[in-house]
Amino acid sequence: MTHGKEIIPTPYYKYDMRLLDETLSRISDELRPYNNYHLHYAVKANTNPDVLKRIAAQGFGADCVSGGEIRAALAAGFPANSISYAGVGKADWEIRLALEAGIECFNVESIAELEIIAEIATELNMVAPVCFRINPDVGAHTHANITTGMAENKFGIAKEDMVKVIRMAEQMPAIKCIGLHFHIGSQILDMQDFLDLALRINELQDQLDEAGIETLPIINVGGGLGVDYDDPDKHPFADFHSYFSTYTDNLRLRSGQQVIFELGRAVVAQIGQLVTRVLYVKEGTVKKFVIVDAGMTELIRPALYDAKHHIVNVTAEQRGDAVLEKYDVVGPICESSDVFATDLLLPHTQRGDIISIASAGAYGETMASQYNCRPLPKVVLEW
Ligand SMILES: *Cc1c(COP(=O)(O)O)cnc(C)c1O
Repeated sequence: MTHGKEIIPTPYYKYDMRLLDETLSRISDELRPYNNYHLHYAVKANTNPDVLKRIAAQGFGADCVSGGEIRAALAAGFPANSISYAGVGKADWEIRLALEAGIECFNVESIAELEIIAEIATELNMVAPVCFRINPDVGAHTHANITTGMAENKFGIAKEDMVKVIRMAEQMPAIKCIGLHFHIGSQILDMQDFLDLALRINELQDQLDEAGIETLPIINVGGGLGVDYDDPDKHPFADFHSYFSTYTDNLRLRSGQQVIFELGRAVVAQIGQLVTRVLYVKEGTVKKFVIVDAGMTELIRPALYDAKHHIVNVTAEQRGDAVLEKYDVVGPICESSDVFATDLLLPHTQRGDIISIASAGAYGETMASQYNCRPLPKVVLEW
C-alpha cells in the first residue's frame, strides 16, 4: 500500500497465510492428545490451491461435495484415503471418479444413491466404502439457509431408517458400510447444539448395539463451528477448544472407533479480507450510500444469508478522519440485495477510499459468480 492507495486493482481477496498456519497449528495442538480424532477440512469453504496445499501439508484430510472438489483436493496433495465425499446429488461420473481415486468413504444420503453407487462399483469390480448420513433431528440455532440437521431438511437419511439402511447395505456385495455421518449446519456458536448431536449419536450407537450391528469404525460428526464476524480482530480464532472438547468429553465411542470433524468456515474465515474501493458516495433522499466496486458477485453471504461482515475504511483511518457518518455500503450489481451493510458508522468516506471487508476467507471466493459479466475476483496471498 502506498499513500493509502492499493496498487493492485480492486476488488480482490487477500489471504493471510500466517494466520492460516497459526489456525492449523492450534487445531493440531487441540487434537494431538486424541489419536482417534481427525480433521477433514471442508474444501468448499475455500478452494484456493495455496490454501488447500497448506492444509494438506499439515496432515489433515478433506471433505468434498463434488467431483471437482475431489480433483482439487488430490491436486493439493490430500491423500485419496483421507477424502470423504458428501452431497445429496452425486452424478455418475463423480461416483466413478471417487471410486477410481480410492477415497476413504462416500457419505450416502439416500437409498436411491446407495443403489447407484453399488451399481457403479459392481461395474468397476470394486467395493465402495460408505458412511450413512443420518439426519439427527437436532436444531442448530443459525440462519435457516444453513441449518441442515432438522427432520424437514433435504439432507440425510431419517434416523428411524438407520438400522434398515445398514441392513440393506449388508446385503450388497459392492458396498461396505464403515460408519455414520452427521452435519447439523453452519456458523453454530452455541455448544449446546454440538452437545445435542453428541448425545444423539450415543443413542443411535446404542440402537445399533441392540440391533446386533457390528461396531462401525467411523463416526463423522460434520462441521459447523462458527466464527466471530462482529469482532474478528478480537477473536481471530474460533473456539476450537470448546468445540472439540464437547465431543471428546461426551461421545461414548466403541473400541477402535475414529471420529472425523469436517470444519470449513472455522479454518479459513478469518484469514480472508475482501479489498474493495469506493466508486462514489451517493447522497440519497434519506440515506448516504457508499458504492464500492465489489458486490454480491465477489461476496454473496450478505445477500444470501443476511450475513454481517466487519467493514473498515482503511484509507479514512490513515487520513485520521475522526468524524463518523452513517452509510449504507452497497455493491454495483443490479440486485436490491447487493448490500454489505446498512446504517453503518464509518469515518467520512470519499471516492477512491479502500474498504476492507473482514472474515471473508470462507464461502467468499468459492461462491463468486460472473453475474453481470464480471470477472472472477483476484487473490493476493500475504505471507
Ligand atoms: C459444508 C459442510 C461442512 C463444513 O461446514 P462449516 O460450517 O464450514 O464447518 C461439513 N460437512 C458437510 C457435509 C458440509 O456440507
